[in-house]
Amino acid sequence: MRDDDWLAERLSQIWQLLFPDLERKNNVVVRFKGRWKNKFGHIKRMKNKDTEIVINGLFKSEKVPEYIVDTTIAHELVHYSHGFHSPFPQKYKYPHSGGVVNRELRKRGFGHMMGRERDFVKRQWPRIFKELCPDKLQRRRRVKFSFF
Ligand SMILES: [Zn+2]
Repeated sequence: MRDDDWLAERLSQIWQLLFPDLERKNNVVVRFKGRWKNKFGHIKRMKNKDTEIVINGLFKSEKVPEYIVDTTIAHELVHYSHGFHSPFPQKYKYPHSGGVVNRELRKRGFGHMMGRERDFVKRQWPRIFKELCPDKLQRRRRVKFSFF
């Protein structure tokens, strides 16, 4: 079962393996939250100055491959290293200026995983999302039906 402890372990493994040069300048917490179709994760600075990384709560399901959790964590860690919601000086005007996140991920050896992620988003995620959130699907259907 994937829970927040499991997630914290994934974060520390990815940090050690792929971001060994990145100093952990403050307390970074990671947790599952939300049920989103179009957002995989986000990063936020908390009032107490901790950094919170949130991973889509739907990724607790074993139907979602682990590498999707990994690439989401890595994506948010790049934002952290660029000074977004972290104690580092902000390196770019916007978090995604000119593809900086993907460039950094490729540099750190995530190129192959990113290809798999793109493929997953296109070919598998819509179906898995429907399985995990039938209620959300139903709501949309009902709206559609009201037109008939
Ligand atoms: Zn991002």
